[in-house]
Amino acid sequence: MDYSKKIQEIASKLFADNKINYFVGYKQNSFDDSQVPFLITDPAEIPKLVFTDRSVFNLANYLKPDHTKRKRVGLVVKGCDSRALNLMLTESQVKRENIYIIGICCEGVLNEKGEKAQNCVECVMPDPVVYDEMIGSPTGKREYTINADIRELATKALEERADYFESIFENCIRCNACRHSCPLCYCAKCCIDQETSTLYHGANTSSGAMHALMTWSLHLAGRCVDCRNCEKACPSHLPLHLLHKQNESVIYENFQQHLAGMEKDDRGAFYKYSLSDPDDFIL
Ligand code: SF4
Ligand code: SF4
Ligand code: SF4
Ligand code: SF4
Repeated sequence: MDYSKKIQEIASKLFADNKINYFVGYKQNSFDDSQVPFLITDPAEIPKLVFTDRSVFNLANYLKPDHTKRKRVGLVVKGCDSRALNLMLTESQVKRENIYIIGICCEGVLNEKGEKAQNCVECVMPDPVVYDEMIGSPTGKREYTINADIRELATKALEERADYFESIFENCIRCNACRHSCPLCYCAKCCIDQETSTLYHGANTSSGAMHALMTWSLHLAGRCVDCRNCEKACPSHLPLHLLHKQNESVIYENFQQHLAGMEKDDRGAFYKYSLSDPDDFIL
């Protein structure tokens, strides 16, 4: 998958037609084969734009309310990124008329070991669900499978699982990089901020981290699109997908097979409440 040239052509046309003020894509890192998000305002920088299986980030995170209020932006999204964008649109976080969306029919991205990333192996929607222009050939929605790590965790005793999560939370340094890297965490005043919170004390303790991360993951329940931006940002390399994928599987099974951001105007799992929903999973 190398759509670099195609993206450069589209960006050139958008700037030439005065349709955008800036463009958000990827550029090659200067010291290894990874890429970084790249925001350009000057068309002279267009030749630096790339898109390959190393384009791992969710660029929807670069759109926050102020960005599209008065400016028009060109944005590259893969399937999972477009699902986050769908939710941001529904939640009135961005102005649709001020974004030109280049949707990639995604063939999957690679992890640090050069293997196909786990979320890509399990991806339910590699095609963009919202776009102005599509690149590649759509392959359609895939069957949902419970995440491999969640399946494995479920085979362990509760005490063993508790010990495992304790060891994870112990290594959290409360830097909040996970929250900042999530396109769906945009609250101006976040309840888990150490500086402002009355609910979560600032001390960096395991219980404080557990409290904060559990709250965070619950705020993403029914909204997380499994892009793993948060995991990539975590300096402690914590397997944060375990929290989100656990929530996702419970919601899928109990809220009418809901998957976040798949449809336009989808307001999230909890708006799908029906009296016939099962409730035996609630403690
Ligand atoms: S999760 Fe799907 S859409 Fe997202 S990068 Fe992987 S294959 Fe592409
Ligand atoms: S919680 Fe993580 S995986 Fe889920 S949408 Fe946010 S950044 Fe992506
Ligand atoms: S963790 Fe919750 S309160 Fe904080 S930014 Fe995310 S959604 Fe908002
Ligand atoms: S990015 Fe990692 S270390 Fe930082 S707050 Fe999130 S989980 Fe903790």
